[in-house]
Amino acid sequence: MYGMKQDWELEPRPRHFVLEDYVGGQPRWCTGCGDHAVLGAVQRLMRDEQLTPEDTVVVSGIGCSSRFPHYMKTYGFHGLHGRALPVACGIRSRRPDLNIFVATGDGDCTAIGAGHWIHAIRYNMKMTVMLLDNHIYGLTKMQSSPTSPQGNRSNTHPLGAFLSPINPLSVTLGVTNASFVAQTVDWNPPHLYATLQAAHKHDGLAFIRILQRCPHYMPQVFAALQQDTSHAVLLTHANGIPLDDDVARMFKVKEEHDPSDILRARYQAERRDGIVLGLLYHNDNAERYHEYSAAGLGMSAADKIDVVQETMDRFLV
Ligand code: SF4
Repeated sequence: MYGMKQDWELEPRPRHFVLEDYVGGQPRWCTGCGDHAVLGAVQRLMRDEQLTPEDTVVVSGIGCSSRFPHYMKTYGFHGLHGRALPVACGIRSRRPDLNIFVATGDGDCTAIGAGHWIHAIRYNMKMTVMLLDNHIYGLTKMQSSPTSPQGNRSNTHPLGAFLSPINPLSVTLGVTNASFVAQTVDWNPPHLYATLQAAHKHDGLAFIRILQRCPHYMPQVFAALQQDTSHAVLLTHANGIPLDDDVARMFKVKEEHDPSDILRARYQAERRDGIVLGLLYHNDNAERYHEYSAAGLGMSAADKIDVVQETMDRFLV
């Protein structure tokens, strides 16, 4: 009518996502908790990469940081304690098209979920795994976790933790088929963002240990590192985490580190003279289990029955 188009004649415009398209519920984390910074960085990454919310899933286990999926407007799976990684691997097995982010804590991943952690690293299915490591169980109110510093007083160790902490970086780097291992902190937004971005682009399981502040139960644990960057060693390399010069200048100690060198990566993970930040290890050629487990996707029901029949026929006597 009068040259006007009807609704059904209009070309649908390509969708453009803004930050609010990824923002879910109101976070219930304490004021000053480092989880807020990680949440904001992930939402910004999704906006910048224009990830389709309904093609994205955030998986978690149990703990403060595992409330992550509730605060995202994507699909989410708030799983059982320690079981974020097997759930995420299951999703990747059958839905290779989805963007998968995993939020897990030091209690969730390195204690009850330790077995799953090892095997998920070996399976190397494409996903971004964020270990939010605050060195304590926060949700259940201050018990020692495997990463609690030796001597740290908690409700389970009122006289101080007896043992040296587990090192999530060296454990991960010790697993066959590890393909991306990085470390960052929640209080340096550019480094956190750049690390998440590199992890998201990696074709395999990207493991990021994020040193995360818990001002409620561990107010001092990262104080020295926050106040004086000479406690950190920034790893630099053309194939590492790209960082603007003005951000890199904030770090007093820098070291060139080739992320393809696994032996050197293990040294970096273990060194005692500073906390390394950056990409420790990267290998794009590691095998990816989802390339096997996704076999048969897209087959019709009739084709699947044919394959089963054919297989059964092989056992005919
Ligand atoms: Fe964050 Fe600690 Fe509060 Fe948990 S207890 S929300 S980790 S500050």
